[in-house]
Amino acid sequence: MALLGAHVPTAGSVGRAFANAKAIGADSVQIFVKNPNRWGAGAFTEAELKAYGRERDRHGNPAVVAHASYLINLSATNPETLKRSRTALKDELTRCAQLGVGGLVLHPGAHLGAGIEAGLDAAARSLDLVLAEIETPVPVWLENTAGQGTVLGSRPQELAALIASCDQKVRLGVCLDTCHAFAAGYAVHTEAGLEEFLEAVETHIGSTRIGCFHLNDSLYPLGSRRDRHATLGLGEIGMAAFVWLAGDARFTNTPMLLETPVGDDKQEHARDLAHLREALSA
Ligand SMILES: [Zn+2]
Repeated sequence: MALLGAHVPTAGSVGRAFANAKAIGADSVQIFVKNPNRWGAGAFTEAELKAYGRERDRHGNPAVVAHASYLINLSATNPETLKRSRTALKDELTRCAQLGVGGLVLHPGAHLGAGIEAGLDAAARSLDLVLAEIETPVPVWLENTAGQGTVLGSRPQELAALIASCDQKVRLGVCLDTCHAFAAGYAVHTEAGLEEFLEAVETHIGSTRIGCFHLNDSLYPLGSRRDRHATLGLGEIGMAAFVWLAGDARFTNTPMLLETPVGDDKQEHARDLAHLREALSA
């Protein structure tokens, strides 16, 4: 079975991730290594890192994935934003290395009118510049997107083209988000459509580059190009797709993380994970 988990809050201290993961029954965990809506952040303190290591050990060393800030655009057309984005990515990778996370999920960028080819080229140059400056072994996992506006990476072919034009290919992988694939027009709600999407990934990118999955249902219909996640089974994708994916023997030990809405009782992720495991063992 895949390593089922979720994005968890770390308010106050990154080490909190593990208790929060345990509370919902997660076997893998995704965190932000800094506030995702701000450019800067203070460095981790020695005490914070120690607490993180202690908590991680105490909870049996679950797989940890990080998600990069939403502000980063590696193909920004404004030189100032581009520079800030590259600096921010470098900082995130440094933090990830300090925490020993398995990979940093990153949205490939938005071309902002420059065109797909120019956008992919700019993103590749940014990745090469940043990765050349740091020796941390933490890979960058480029996430497929819903294709809204000018965002890059809604098709496996685009992610593949981006990876192919980077010098630092060995440090790049992908994160596959079900909601984004569905919104981009891949019929992952059907068994054939899901397989077709995975085959496109295999053909163009290679499944060995799959670092993790994001298990999200979609609020909007197939091909909507809108990125709005829904609770598993309550969106347009439906529960079956998540059971097929989580039970797929090709992805045993691959983190599959929920990024679905959490309401007042904070129990949605716990319920979704229990529901999935129940369906898988049925
Ligand atoms: Zn995602």
